[in-house]
Amino acid sequence: TVAVFGSCNMDLVAYVETAPKQGETVPGREFHTVPGGKGANQAIAAAKAGAAVRMIGAVGEDPFGTQIRETLQKSTVDVSGLRVVPRRSGTAHIVVDAEGGNSIVVVPGANATVDGLVEGDEDLIAGARSLLLQLEIPFSGVAAAAAAGRRNGVRVVLTPAPAVPLSADILSNVDLLVPNEHEAAILAGDADPRRALAALLQLVPEVVITLGARGSLYGNRDGARVEVPSFPVDAVDTTAAGDTFVGVLSTALGEGAEVPEALRLASAGAAVSVQRNGASSSMPTRQEIIDFVAT
Ligand code: ADP
Repeated sequence: TVAVFGSCNMDLVAYVETAPKQGETVPGREFHTVPGGKGANQAIAAAKAGAAVRMIGAVGEDPFGTQIRETLQKSTVDVSGLRVVPRRSGTAHIVVDAEGGNSIVVVPGANATVDGLVEGDEDLIAGARSLLLQLEIPFSGVAAAAAAGRRNGVRVVLTPAPAVPLSADILSNVDLLVPNEHEAAILAGDADPRRALAALLQLVPEVVITLGARGSLYGNRDGARVEVPSFPVDAVDTTAAGDTFVGVLSTALGEGAEVPEALRLASAGAAVSVQRNGASSSMPTRQEIIDFVAT
């Protein structure tokens, strides 16, 4: 079982040729709304990959909140830890360009209320093998969940996004840190991924740095290093590539896969997702991952 303590958003996505600069207006090709937020994305990625998943977080008393809940449920995610609060649901305003690159504004809304544990959360966390955390809710919420994970012997996996310097009270309870290259550079104060990996291993026992189309790097404190290439595919939308990667990685590790195999499956899952538009809507099922790896 995977528990996710984090954000739920409605993604409002516009597809354009080139993203607008300051003061500029550009025509869009297409628009759609799809549930997202790093927490919900990781939950859906893990559930589609075959894990039993529990989502802990909050949505607003609005139609977006209802849609987010229904989408999680459709992906078989347990939403008994998803609160409804008198706010707007979180929204992410996303622009995707012709190369598949994105720029994003996130308005936290209901996610801002997830600032600590409420009754029942500790039990939901304690019953899981892994706990997935990201930084789209208040730090106090992330810290409380990480501490609960550690107290209960749950593997705590943190995606340090959006990128910000982290305090020791969060990091001291993290088992596996999964930054992308940009986040790793900020946390480690070093833009070279191999040196950043070594620096981050001073803070947590295991690290994976994702390098976009260049794959990923794994290291642990015992000195193990694994480099995994990405699968060569035509990316149309890289939104949530990292969330898909983490969701599939945790599912595979939870099933007892060795790290190199789990990284390969995570890369395959992410490679499938970048070939499709959207965040949660782009994530592959377990069978799709198996079929992709086999071809
Ligand atoms: P994030 O989405 O958090 O910025 P990355 O861009 O590093 O994370 O992507 C996470 C993982 O997704 C990569 O390690 C890689 O396995 C896969 N991936 C990302 N972009 C591509 C791509 N263009 N082609 C193939 N795989 C990709």
